[in-house]
Amino acid sequence: MAERRKCKHCHKSFSPRPQNPDQQYCSEPDCQRARKRIWQQRKLLADADYHANQRAAQSIWQKKNPDYWSKYRQRNPVYVERNRANQRDRNHYRNWQDKGRSAIAKMDSSISESSIIPGRYQLRRIDSGRIAKMDALIVEINLFSSG
Ligand SMILES: [Zn+2]
Repeated sequence: MAERRKCKHCHKSFSPRPQNPDQQYCSEPDCQRARKRIWQQRKLLADADYHANQRAAQSIWQKKNPDYWSKYRQRNPVYVERNRANQRDRNHYRNWQDKGRSAIAKMDSSISESSIIPGRYQLRRIDSGRIAKMDALIVEINLFSSG
């Protein structure tokens, strides 16, 4: 005789399916929905626990290693210097680009305003740039005639 047990949802007795000997809910749609709902709640709780554990572990680690990054930077001066140098290069390049653009704009306007005798020219900045070092990079532009 088949085993009978009580459904966890409707509390009526039912026979577990042979392919699911651990069945705890009968096959009524309501009871199956209840089973799924509880399964999802458990899963959400498990996930929440998992994320909470991850966060807790992270913050415990940070409390145990509060100066990890400052020590890392002390141990790796090359890393720090490289970062600084990269930033310097980026700033430098941006300044250079800006100055180059304005120099080209000035050149264009002066060419259209006056007729330039074909030949070799050296362009010098008239206004004093904010960064004097940059001048050598962009001020000296040689123009060659098309001839
Ligand atoms: Zn049931």
